[in-house]
Amino acid sequence: MESKTLVMEEPGELTQRTVELPEVGPGELRVKITLSGICGTDVHMYEGGMDLDFPVVPGHEMAGTIEELGEDVTADSKGDPVSEGDTVAIVPGIVCGECWFCQNVPSRPTTCRNRDVYGFMNAEYRQRAHGGFGQYMIVDERASFYRMPDDLDPELGALVEPLAVATRAFERAYPPGQPDAREGFGIGKSVAVQGAGPIGLLTMSAARAAGAGQIIALDAIDERLSVAEQFGATETVNVTGPDDTDELVEAVQGLTSGNVGPDVVVEAAGQPIAFQQGIELVRDGGTLVEAGHYAYSGETEINPTRVVQKDIDIRGSLAYPPNQFETGIALLELLADEMPFGELFNHRVGFDDAEEAYEKQASGEAYRATIHPWGV
Ligand SMILES: [Zn+2]
Ligand SMILES: [Zn+2]
Repeated sequence: MESKTLVMEEPGELTQRTVELPEVGPGELRVKITLSGICGTDVHMYEGGMDLDFPVVPGHEMAGTIEELGEDVTADSKGDPVSEGDTVAIVPGIVCGECWFCQNVPSRPTTCRNRDVYGFMNAEYRQRAHGGFGQYMIVDERASFYRMPDDLDPELGALVEPLAVATRAFERAYPPGQPDAREGFGIGKSVAVQGAGPIGLLTMSAARAAGAGQIIALDAIDERLSVAEQFGATETVNVTGPDDTDELVEAVQGLTSGNVGPDVVVEAAGQPIAFQQGIELVRDGGTLVEAGHYAYSGETEINPTRVVQKDIDIRGSLAYPPNQFETGIALLELLADEMPFGELFNHRVGFDDAEEAYEKQASGEAYRATIHPWGV
């Protein structure tokens, strides 16, 4: 059986290859891919910012239908029964389970020293059909996957990965224990999200699902801010309005009760200046989560004294453990009728127009450009 695949031969150079699929082994699945998103990391790879073993089969935000179940596969990673024809979202990251980090901090799988990630692996590695930009994937026995509920649009399966990123980033602001002590996030608290791109918007939806009392969206583009209102933002601030950081902080503080600033700030803009501003934006004793700088995008000056004086918590967030997909799916079930998740896929292409889709994603014109291996 053959599968057409989009391959990145070198950064910026895409070709189409046809690969012969291996047999589906025990514990494996053959999934017919419906669509796969192009994310900021893919753009980064395209632009040469990632040191990978090229050629690579990209695509790590994919959903598809099970065509063949390998021997012994009866349930998804949550334990729910699966059968052929079910829609699944596939977790791209696979840990080794053996290194020091896997043994000692399994809740932080990105620390694994020998991690495989679908969408970033060499085209000849293992089953060869292992990126979302292919007609089929062989999901190997080490991987995690989750069945999509029947009442959800199957295409939303491609949003579960970025939702896992966003919900985990947001949940990093949860306190270990007593939310009423006003440590970290709790129901009714004030949350600001810097950046209204896909991850920022999904972070706002997470804040809404979790019961935030106020969600302040910050972005430089008015159109994005109005989309933010559809994803739960109760207030919006265009960061290009105020003259400097002091004025911006004052504007945001003025929206919060007591004029003290938000309890939680999530940086999802990926601009170094946003992190610097985040330290000032969050109220004294609040929590700042840095999620936007998953790839290097420059540096900024930090005044460590402010971090101490303000007595704030700063937490980084990279990816998620596999069961964060359950959270993403649960959020879709909760909010899919209320928020226009499907509209984020606003640039849909087949393989032939992939270059253009990367460009639309890079320029920000597309919220989430998607590759449809069987055409659009
Ligand atoms: Zn991604
Ligand atoms: Zn490991």
